[in-house]
Amino acid sequence: MTGNNKDRVVIIGGGIAGLSAGIYALKAGFDAVIYEKNSIPGGECIGWNRKGFHIDNCIHWLTGTKKGTDLYEVWKTTGAISDGTEYADIDSFYTSSLNGQKATLWNDLKKTEEELIGISPEDEEEIKKFIQYTEYAKQCLIPASKPMEMWGIGDYISMGKDMADFPKVMKEFGKISLDEYSRRFYSPLLRKLICDYLPKEYCVYSLMVSYATMADGNGKIPMGASLQMSLRMEKRFKELGGKIFYNTGVEKIVLEKKKAIGIKLENGEFVNADFAIPTLDTYPLFKKLLPEKYMPKALATAYGDQKTYPAISGFQLAFTVRDSFETEHTQLFDIEPLKVGSGTYDRMYIKSYGYDPLFVHDGRVVIQTSIIQSDDDFKFWKNLSPEEYAKEKEKLIGEVAKRVVTNFPELEGDLEFLDCWTPLTYERYCNAYHGSYMCFTTTPESKTIRLKGKLKGIDNIYLAGQWTMPPGGLPIAVVSGKFAIQRILKGQKRDINI
Ligand SMILES: Cc1cc2nc3c(=O)[nH]c(=O)nc-3n(C[C@H](O)[C@H](O)[C@H](O)COP(=O)(O)OP(=O)(O)OC[C@H]3O[C@@H](n4cnc5c(N)ncnc54)[C@H](O)[C@@H]3O)c2cc1C
Repeated sequence: MTGNNKDRVVIIGGGIAGLSAGIYALKAGFDAVIYEKNSIPGGECIGWNRKGFHIDNCIHWLTGTKKGTDLYEVWKTTGAISDGTEYADIDSFYTSSLNGQKATLWNDLKKTEEELIGISPEDEEEIKKFIQYTEYAKQCLIPASKPMEMWGIGDYISMGKDMADFPKVMKEFGKISLDEYSRRFYSPLLRKLICDYLPKEYCVYSLMVSYATMADGNGKIPMGASLQMSLRMEKRFKELGGKIFYNTGVEKIVLEKKKAIGIKLENGEFVNADFAIPTLDTYPLFKKLLPEKYMPKALATAYGDQKTYPAISGFQLAFTVRDSFETEHTQLFDIEPLKVGSGTYDRMYIKSYGYDPLFVHDGRVVIQTSIIQSDDDFKFWKNLSPEEYAKEKEKLIGEVAKRVVTNFPELEGDLEFLDCWTPLTYERYCNAYHGSYMCFTTTPESKTIRLKGKLKGIDNIYLAGQWTMPPGGLPIAVVSGKFAIQRILKGQKRDINI
């Protein structure tokens, strides 16, 4: 209890999950305080400035931008978006190119179908099926009103009605990797299109759900980019009376018998808590902040089997180019094979940020690229000395720039480097397991790990954060914060409608 007789909810981490938990805690009448190790809010949902340009690190699409969905209401409640939010005017997911030919996944599914059949008439049947199942996948909405263990029969019936066709997607595409699926297509370009965007170990339904989200107008990019969205949530939290402490890492959750009595900060201070909500990555949580014996079994299994439960990160670079440079907003292309980390990569993408004036000034626009990095790549970076690490990055900046110019010869002499970052950056900044900024990849062999939100053997710790439910990402982070508060309310036999 605090001086005002309210129960105190102590939240570890000021990312999207932590801010959401804080906002819902205050709405439920608790006292809420957030401890964040960094100097700004947002965790992985941020951006930063270099040489006068803004670099965005997160939102490629924000699931939940469609009015009328439960998730939209959660984003609105947390102040992330409002009915008046402006979104980027983007009409496609991405474009793959090969030997001078291009194929695009347009937001308009009919347009995509026609274009792909035009490219490869012999794939017509498979293309039509891909489009049909993507249409079904539009029904896949993230449950955001309450945690599933609180669902009643009515909730299941209504989900059954709303998502009647989605089981077909899971049945057909729930256990097949993108790599294997791509081989059903004759066209080499369409094979690339299927494997280009998400890691090719991902299950096909992940691509369909992502594409469907965009095609349904439910995955737009708010203007102003990621950091601004996090700052809007921080503002909402503070307006409701919340306190957030920056540059304040948490060292331990202090347990007494079956309860967390508070947290010990890295500066040595103790803060008492009635409830603790850790939102940081589950790996450091159970390796450092809590005794490892509390790690749920499913998680321990996943961390021990990286082949079945891979973690994905990226080697990313940002450049500027003159703003008359014309390209699809995200385009993937072949490159001369390049070793990045321990693996060798032969495809790359360029995303142009010209859709938002935030990224354009003095006649120049930001472009970015990311090369997917695996657990093994993470280990490669981790084993380098600081000098080797700097040298490796320097070498790759030149190699990547060379490949961009090979694909876009008009950029010769025009590419200006802004910044580059690696899986280690995410580990350093957010304590992210293997630098991963999503939950475990959903492979055909992996099981869905859905954490219950409470820990066996401890009464008052409620988990939140993107690692609590696959596939991770912003929507899971934001609903997990809300769910943690609803679980506390349920334990107190109070109304969970907040
Ligand atoms: C390049 C990139 C692109 C992405 N694109 C998308 C996208 O398009 N759509 C999408 O939905 N998602 C996307 N994501 C994923 C999304 O950013 C994350 O899923 C989400 O931000 C995770 O939020 P979180 O609050 O669960 O975790 P985090 O953001 O990791 O927040 C945890 C917080 O805890 C803090 N912390 C850690 N340890 C401690 C400690 N000991 N003491 C105090 N504080 C601590 C961290 O600093 C951090 O601020 C992307 C991520 C990246 C990096």
